Amino acid sequence: MISKLPNVGTTIFTVMSALAAEHKAINLSQGFPDFDCDDTLKEVVNAAMQQGHNQYAPMPGIMPLREAIAKKIYNSYAQTINPDTEITITPGGTYAIFTAIATCIQPGDEVIIFEPAYDSYIPNVLVNGGVPVLIPLTFPEYRINWELVRSKITSRTRMIMLNTPHNPTGSILTEADIRELEQLVAAHNLLVLSDEVYEHLVYDGGQHHSILKYPNLFKNSFVTFSFGKVFHVTGWKMGYCIAPAHLMKEYRKVHQYLCFSVNTPMQYGLAKFLETPEHYLSLPAFYQEKRDYFLQLMADTKFTPLPCYGSYFQLMRYDRISDEGDKDLTIRITKEFGVASIPVSAFYQDGQDDHVIRFCFAKKKATLEQAAERLRKV
Ligand code: GLN
Repeated sequence: MISKLPNVGTTIFTVMSALAAEHKAINLSQGFPDFDCDDTLKEVVNAAMQQGHNQYAPMPGIMPLREAIAKKIYNSYAQTINPDTEITITPGGTYAIFTAIATCIQPGDEVIIFEPAYDSYIPNVLVNGGVPVLIPLTFPEYRINWELVRSKITSRTRMIMLNTPHNPTGSILTEADIRELEQLVAAHNLLVLSDEVYEHLVYDGGQHHSILKYPNLFKNSFVTFSFGKVFHVTGWKMGYCIAPAHLMKEYRKVHQYLCFSVNTPMQYGLAKFLETPEHYLSLPAFYQEKRDYFLQLMADTKFTPLPCYGSYFQLMRYDRISDEGDKDLTIRITKEFGVASIPVSAFYQDGQDDHVIRFCFAKKKATLEQAAERLRKV
């Protein structure tokens, strides 16, 4: 058989989590919390099961959950989204992204992807016959060079992929970025795929500029979200996609034959949980405290933090430690010091290595303390 992804190996998250397990290291690599979700969330899901919500959900998701999401969007971004035609519940954010690409990318279509890029984007485009057009973010600010973007537009450019807050760098799009994007999308009739799974994890009073807030962008966009990331339940694989009705109609044609529908009791539970806005309004402060605590603990190590405006990832430079490659360093620190992290070169197709590694701070205080204690010895 001819491989559709000849150059793809095992995802770095699986590799580093396995290495962490093998060496009994503290796992700050793959992005997931080491603390449990809110008890209320478990109770409402259990209640839904007891009430007999155990058969197929409707293909786009149960209406109470779609209505709760529309309400949350109205509260967060002052935009009215139609729960009937513009929201589809998905098994996680990664699936939501894949399905958007599968919906609209034809063989030969070019898709603009900024690097470092979350590791599923390029394979998702390739498997659908698209052509990834890779554009590096500036270093070390990790911002979009719009001049460079304009120079990469061709008659085949179909879509531009965004991720804000950004994994792995923690950068966020600004109003100025949005203005540039608006011009570009209008001038070349592009589609936008905006991965906003960390929408509530924005710090220091910063604002999340969701594509949902800009009607002239939204009319060409798929915007993807994750309950796993924001409600500390990554193992549930629950997310959703929002798109205008004409795009969502096509999206659902693909979705119905990929997984048909998503598990029912979790949907009822999440609908109930979203009735309390505090459950998502409390998130920025909750995670900012963790980021600040981690930075404070790391202050007397030889790692140098880069700014983290959002997400639950903290990048660190290590030029005061060694000049080895970032992959070698992360493996060595896992084996010798017992803390796993992610080399940022894994987010570049050509392995560009700026000697930066990523730590996930979605962890209990005690975990962060123990990790920093070990990292002080590096
Ligand atoms: N999004 C998570 C991360 O960046 C990983 C999810 C996964 O392993 N697929 O670490």
